[in-house]
Amino acid sequence: MPNTKTLVIIKPDGISKLLIGNIISRFTETRLEIIGCKMVRVSKELAEKHYAEHKGKPFYNDLIDFITGKLHQHREVMALVYSGLNAIEKIRAICGATNPEKAEPDTIRGQFGRILESGLMENVVHASDSVESAEKEIKLWFEPDELIQEIYPTEEKVFKNHKKIVWKE
Ligand code: UDP
Ligand code: MG
Repeated sequence: MPNTKTLVIIKPDGISKLLIGNIISRFTETRLEIIGCKMVRVSKELAEKHYAEHKGKPFYNDLIDFITGKLHQHREVMALVYSGLNAIEKIRAICGATNPEKAEPDTIRGQFGRILESGLMENVVHASDSVESAEKEIKLWFEPDELIQEIYPTEEKVFKNHKKIVWKE
């Protein structure tokens, strides 16, 4: 079984519904390790990069409004990186299907998700769906020094006045 990493986002509805503790408890059952965790105010730029694959789809604009917190009192999300055997599959199994009405009732999305009148699936959590998207997403959301392990190659870059460790291109 491969040791993989995955990005989890507790979306603004999860924060509003006070589900941070509940969601992390559910993931704890997997025995996976948390190697990064932070609260993030999601900019439009970050949202558009994260959901680039959905650009042009009917729900895209609502999805960007949703993840940037426009539909909730809380603008922030929680971003976590989990690491361990089959992390991607284990985390997605606990999250459940994208559509909360089709998700098994004992999954996070089945328990706490809903579909808005607009059709947008407000489904509490994001979780990476493949090794490739996990790497892209983790590098987008986290700087190397925000993780407790160096999971991808890094390099030192010299900016105008300072050096910084960045993800190697
Ligand atoms: N989404 C939606 N309607 C759809 C498909 C997706 O509202 O028909 C939203 C939903 O919030 C979902 C996100 O867009 O979590 C990203 O969609 P994706 O197909 O990547 O699902 P996920 O990987 O999150 O299960
Ligand atoms: Mg997806």
